[in-house]
Amino acid sequence: MKQNLELLMEMLAALPDPVFVLSESGKYLALIGGHDARYYHDGSHLVNFSLHDVMPKARADWFLQQIQQTLEEGRLRTVEYSLGAHEIKGMELAEGPEQDIWFEGRVQPLRRPFRGERAVVWVARNITEHYNMQRQLKTLSEQDELTGAYNRRKLMEALQERVAEFHRYSHPLSLIIFDLDHFKRVNDKFGHVSGDKVLFSITTLCNKQLRQQDLLCRYGGEEFAVLLPNTNLEDAVQLAQRLRTTVGSYDFEQELGESYSITISAGVSTLTPGDDIESLIKRADSGLYQAKNSGRNCVIEKARQL
Ligand code: GH3
Ligand code: MG
Ligand code: MG
Repeated sequence: MKQNLELLMEMLAALPDPVFVLSESGKYLALIGGHDARYYHDGSHLVNFSLHDVMPKARADWFLQQIQQTLEEGRLRTVEYSLGAHEIKGMELAEGPEQDIWFEGRVQPLRRPFRGERAVVWVARNITEHYNMQRQLKTLSEQDELTGAYNRRKLMEALQERVAEFHRYSHPLSLIIFDLDHFKRVNDKFGHVSGDKVLFSITTLCNKQLRQQDLLCRYGGEEFAVLLPNTNLEDAVQLAQRLRTTVGSYDFEQELGESYSITISAGVSTLTPGDDIESLIKRADSGLYQAKNSGRNCVIEKARQL
């Protein structure tokens, strides 16, 4: 019996991931395992303190809410969160990872109350590497390799979300499609590699003009689309004009080895009730087509014909 107990204690102490017992009111009742400083900081000083004693209120509230929800549901729940040692009192100087850690927390109710309170077991696993890898893969799958702009797949995904939002909340949504004028001449004169540099620089120039919520995407070879949430037709046209003058007034000397300017032509459309993605794109496209036929270096807006 004693031997079994010793083995049990050894097993618990050797658990690779930290296992907390947390009460319904947010008190740390016990902590075992998680002693490898490559993955975790030592949290043994937390026992007998409360979440609100050792971390900022908003964080503590979040943890408490998870505990209470798990107790309410009466079954295992899994949560993901990031946490840095600097956010926990007394842990700042402990040996461990310097960056914030991403955790997967597996939270299980205890079968009976402990010291008069309901409680949960909270197993915290360091998933930072896995999380970063996943984020990297997601970025890669949404990006155009050459320019770093978003790709067509991401545009279509964002369009679907935004169009649904438009129909639900009537948030305006506009689209610009623009194409470089006479880009073939650039390739013919300076070579494809220099042409690639131009495409990269134009992406950078345009992104500087956009808000965080706007989405610049490489739509085709030297054709780009800009999705503009919360933007009506008038403002979208204004932005398209700004992109046109920004690109048009830039000197591509660094990219091409001699002073050279490039212009763009753009079509602009905005979503209207009863409208769909296809016709939004079609209208912007036909605006672009018209801009090319009107002598290039201009912006044509296309309102929906009812
Ligand atoms: P327009 O004003 O009518 O658009 O004339 P344009 O010469 O830009 O149009 P066109 O469709 O005749 O040619 C587009 C050129 O863009 C041809 C193609 O070689 C070039 N292009 C497409 N993708 C890339 C790319 O990834 N890198 C480079 N360097 N060139 C590209
Ligand atoms: Mg072109
Ligand atoms: Mg083109």
